[in-house]
Amino acid sequence: MTAILSNLQATREAIAQAARAAHRNVTEVRLLAVSKTFPAMAVREAYSGGQTAFGENYLQEALAKIGALRDLPLEWHFIGPIQSNKTRAIAESFAWVHSVDRLKIAERLSAQRPSNLPPLNICLQVNVSEEESKSGVAAEDAVQLAQQLARLPHIKLRGLMTIPAPAVGEREQRAPFAQMRALLERLNSQGLALDTLSMGMSHDYPAAIKEGATIVRIGTAIFGQR
Ligand SMILES: *Cc1c(COP(=O)(O)O)cnc(C)c1O
Repeated sequence: MTAILSNLQATREAIAQAARAAHRNVTEVRLLAVSKTFPAMAVREAYSGGQTAFGENYLQEALAKIGALRDLPLEWHFIGPIQSNKTRAIAESFAWVHSVDRLKIAERLSAQRPSNLPPLNICLQVNVSEEESKSGVAAEDAVQLAQQLARLPHIKLRGLMTIPAPAVGEREQRAPFAQMRALLERLNSQGLALDTLSMGMSHDYPAAIKEGATIVRIGTAIFGQR
């Protein structure tokens, strides 16, 4: 078995183990394989192991890969920073966008979503650790922005995404994820119907699953070091 296939299998097992420890059904946690910087062949290999959802950060690189893999039934997720002049290509080529943190970007994605495609699935990126260098809306501004995003016609607000500050130790890792879970519950108590918490990367996904992650975004643990 190749490294990618055995890593994929080990990652699935670790996801199942974290779900069991949290008394959650493993089918509630989707694995998004983050293929940024890796070639189309690596994606093809993961697909041969049953993986269909892939995450990309850099638009030009992603478009080349999407084109090279048109023969496969893949679901592409955009997870990187979004410049407003890139929204049209993102709206045309992806099924999900996890990194929306401004109304203007969401409005453009909605307006530019082709009418023959289903609504673009969106996560609102929240900066729960309040790191200055990171993108994402502050938790206290998330409620108002989520209400605005939920009204746009050609996108579907599915939930929240976060990239917390790196932390060592499960208790420290779980704290920001628990805040995200509470924020999602708050939004749902105010009339939204959100079903997605996109949180957890190679170094912290078990902690994220224990706090309710429904999508974990994993690159290094599957494809290797970038
Ligand atoms: C690169 C990236 C990941 C994957 O990170 P790994 O540590 O390689 O698992 C997940 N989410 C986002 C937003 C990323 O940019």
